[in-house]
Order: sequence, then C-alpha cells, then structure tokens
Amino acid sequence: MGEMLRVSDLNVFYGSIHAIKDISFHVDEGEIVTLIGANGAGKTTTMHAISGLLKPKSGTIDFLGNRISQMEAHKIIRLGLAQVPEGRRVFSHLTVQENLSMGAFTRKDGASAIAQDLEMVFDRLPRLKERRKQQAGTLSGGEQQMLAIGRALMCKPKMLLLDEPSMGLSPLLVKEIFKIIEDVNKDGVTVLLVEQNAKMALEIADRAYVLETGTVKMEGPADELANNIEVRKAYLGC
Ligand code: ATP
Repeated sequence: MGEMLRVSDLNVFYGSIHAIKDISFHVDEGEIVTLIGANGAGKTTTMHAISGLLKPKSGTIDFLGNRISQMEAHKIIRLGLAQVPEGRRVFSHLTVQENLSMGAFTRKDGASAIAQDLEMVFDRLPRLKERRKQQAGTLSGGEQQMLAIGRALMCKPKMLLLDEPSMGLSPLLVKEIFKIIEDVNKDGVTVLLVEQNAKMALEIADRAYVLETGTVKMEGPADELANNIEVRKAYLGC
C-alpha cells in the first residue's frame, strides 16, 4: 500500500489569523484516516487547503506524486481527489439525478460510461434511486448527505475528502452514512474524514489525528486513540 496523500509543515492564514500551524500528516492507499477535533481546531481549513480552495502560506501537499499545494481546485479533482463539503451544498433546485450528473462534469469519458456510473451510485445508494426525479432541496438532511457523497463518487475519485458528514443528522442516520463510507472504502476509495463526532469517526477509521488550535496534538491507530484517556475525556465524553 503506497502513500496517497502527504501534507507537510502546512501553514494557513486568514489575514493575520494563523489558523493552521505546521500540520503534517499522511494517508496511505486504502485507508480511512480521520482528523478529529473541537470547533475551530482547523479541520475545515485543512480540507480546503487540500482541495485547493485555500492557498497555504507555506508547506506542501502531495497527492499521488503531484504537488497540489498551489494547484487550482478543478485540476485537483481531475487527479482523483473529490471533496464532499461541509453542509452538503447540493444544488437544491435541481433533481437528484441532475445533481449526480453535475458530479461527472470533470470527466472526459463518454455518456455511456457516465450512465453506468449513475447506476453504480444508485446501486450503492438505493434511496437516491427512488428519489431520482425529486428536487434535491426537498430531501431530508440524511438524503442530502447521501446525494453529496453520490455526487463526489461520480468523479470516480481515488480519494474522498469528507467534511463533517454527521453534521445535523440523527444517530441512526449517522450510522447509515458511516456504513456507506465504509462500503465505499471497501470498494477501493481511500478516505480522509473530518469529524467532530470523534466516537463514530474512530470506529470506522484505521488511523486518526487529533487537531487542537491548528496543530496536531496526537496521532495513532484509531483503536488506540479511542482508548486513550485524554482523548476519551476531551472528545468522547467518558
Ligand atoms: P468547525 O468544526 O467549527 O468547522 P474546524 O475545526 O473546521 O471547526 P476551521 O473552520 O478550520 O475549524 O477554523 C479554524 C480557525 O480559523 C478558527 O479559529 C476560525 O475562527 C478561523 N477561521 C475560519 N475561517 C475563517 C475566515 N474565513 N476568516 C477568518 N478566520 C477564519
């Protein structure tokens, strides 16, 4: 299993605010890695730097041998790195199927390949199939999260970045979404998962990094961190 993503000594500023301070981590092919941490720890900022929405002040990000730290977002997607943004951001006036088709816009292969993948996404997410003609804005929160994941899968990514997929969902739905993430990973997609719900994230992840005020505070195998006293007190509430 080779290394897929490496972030080295990353620094990101918002004006004079130093949001990310010398963060380093990596994700190997086939893994689920999670970044956990409280509000404001810098999780979303890190995701945005990886997906090209924010330019780091210093440090490097490499994905499959490509230096992506200063690359434009659409080029990064083409390399096979797709993001499922926080808050889902589906196109609410378009139907489920239209939203999924938008996910394939970066692809250059033919319409039949895209149609095939649409069926693959519908097989993986049957609730979307039933609702293919429904306006995305009328879907429940959980269904919108599924749609956002489905849309990212339409880019045929090698790696999926997920930003707080559990946000605003009931415990039952969180379970369902996390099962989908595990299944997608089993199908060969590497996953970087940003989560405030540390308990659930540590259950499905192979390894984890704990972010605190813009730095990596701890790192290790997910099961070890889940049993770590400090992590339990600060993030698992027990
Ligand atoms: P949350 O789970 O609440 O989204 P997070 O871990 O994702 O938290 P970030 O959103 O990455 O945290 O924020 C990291 C820090 O950067 C915070 O102190 C935040 O206030 C600051 N920050 C984020 N976005 C901006 C912005 N656009 N302008 C200025 N400061 C920002």
